[in-house]
Amino acid sequence: MRLDIVGSAGSYPSPDSACSSYLLRSGASSVLLDAGNGSQSRLYRLIEPANLNAIIISHGHVDHFADLIGIYHYLKYASPPKAPVPVFTTEDTRTKLEFLLGASNIDETVIALIVTEPGSIITAGSFSVSFYAARHSVPTLITRISDSSSVMCYGADGDVSEELSKASAGVDLLLGESTWVERTKDSAQGLHLDARNLAALAQSAAAARLVITHVAYPADKARIFEIVTDSYSGAAFLAEDGASFSF
Ligand SMILES: [Zn+2]
Ligand SMILES: [Zn+2]
Repeated sequence: MRLDIVGSAGSYPSPDSACSSYLLRSGASSVLLDAGNGSQSRLYRLIEPANLNAIIISHGHVDHFADLIGIYHYLKYASPPKAPVPVFTTEDTRTKLEFLLGASNIDETVIALIVTEPGSIITAGSFSVSFYAARHSVPTLITRISDSSSVMCYGADGDVSEELSKASAGVDLLLGESTWVERTKDSAQGLHLDARNLAALAQSAAAARLVITHVAYPADKARIFEIVTDSYSGAAFLAEDGASFSF
């Protein structure tokens, strides 16, 4: 499995990073996890979007779904796919897309919007994907993805939860968020992880690798890395746009 970081900024773009988007490939199969604002221009460098086996949008926040609108228009007018590209996402995201594009304007020969519930399992190319519920401010899907040899978890956005622990147990790679360096007493519950939360999650999951993403600019990434590696004993990396990981 190969994971490319298309965009890694949390909540809004940073000076050197687009918002959340990750491309996962295995042999001829490819899945795009999220399409945050700014990510589409970087995606072309990695893949022809019409060739994606599936797009998974974790939730209806713009830093995760905004560029799906651009990808849709590119597919519709410039590069029609041979078959509609399946887009697995939440009801909330579908409602927002229908508002932005116009429900009757969504061309089902271009994308197939598939409302997906936690607990469901789908196949995309040679990938098998299981969905879990994140603890976030809107319905959010955590994905656990495997091919014949490896398994990874993308935690999306969300606070510590049993579902997040289950989804990340024993993975070869955990792609996890640390929006904050350290949550304060005033930090809202049920929104995001900080560095300590993420390290504890990765350690208890016995994740072989941890890729730290969704850091909200200008949070100190080096400090986040320090805190994580203090208590997590696996291999830790900071996500940067353009980085890739094979596992
Ligand atoms: Zn986010
Ligand atoms: Zn969010």
